[in-house]
Amino acid sequence: MSIAKNLNKIKNSIPENVCLVAVSKTKPTSAIKEAYDAGQKVFGENKIQEMAAKYEELPKDIEWHMIGHLQSNKVKYMAHFVHLIHGVDRFKTLNEINKQAIKNNRIINCLLQVKIAREETKFGLSFNEVQDLLSSEEIKKLENINIVGLMGMASFTEDESIIRTEFKILKKYFDILKEHNSININLSKLSMGMSGDYKIAIEEGSTMIRVGSAIFGTRNYK
Ligand SMILES: *Cc1c(COP(=O)(O)O)cnc(C)c1O
Repeated sequence: MSIAKNLNKIKNSIPENVCLVAVSKTKPTSAIKEAYDAGQKVFGENKIQEMAAKYEELPKDIEWHMIGHLQSNKVKYMAHFVHLIHGVDRFKTLNEINKQAIKNNRIINCLLQVKIAREETKFGLSFNEVQDLLSSEEIKKLENINIVGLMGMASFTEDESIIRTEFKILKKYFDILKEHNSININLSKLSMGMSGDYKIAIEEGSTMIRVGSAIFGTRNYK
């Protein structure tokens, strides 16, 4: 199926309040343009420099989301245009995003990544770490960031009950952590669900899904 067909099929199957982030990592700008021409305006990338290069080349009304793990020293390459940073999992990174946001006279939206999967390899904060971070004095001083929600990735498994349980836990955390809402903490977005599990994620309360291969086909990491 074509990119446009894949996109429309997914869009027509999800509720209107769920934001579809088309994950275009490793894909050429021609593929992104095809999705863009079919009406998609929100794209996700996991490497800062790759995203910055694509930003330069493509229409400026695209919303770029950084979904990968962040290296603080590269935040400067996207601070002038990034719309939402999904994978923030430490204060040091928030501090750097704030610094770069000030330089660019912007407020940058962030999601905190929470570890819900059992696998060792998945990044993210524990519930207690998020709670400590959100209630800290230091975070209140970061006036140029806006923490708008949480992001999580379920275990890579065929067992749907494990995936569902992990998404349920993240939704529960999300509902509890909303009590921290303040001037720069406004938890309203829950980024969970990818090509293989977005349907389960939506059933469990996701408001933002990050879908790559179901739109663009499988990736080639050569
Ligand atoms: C690559 C990636 C996705 C999309 O994965 P698909 O399985 O291709 O939909 C979603 N979220 C993150 C964090 C990713 O790195």
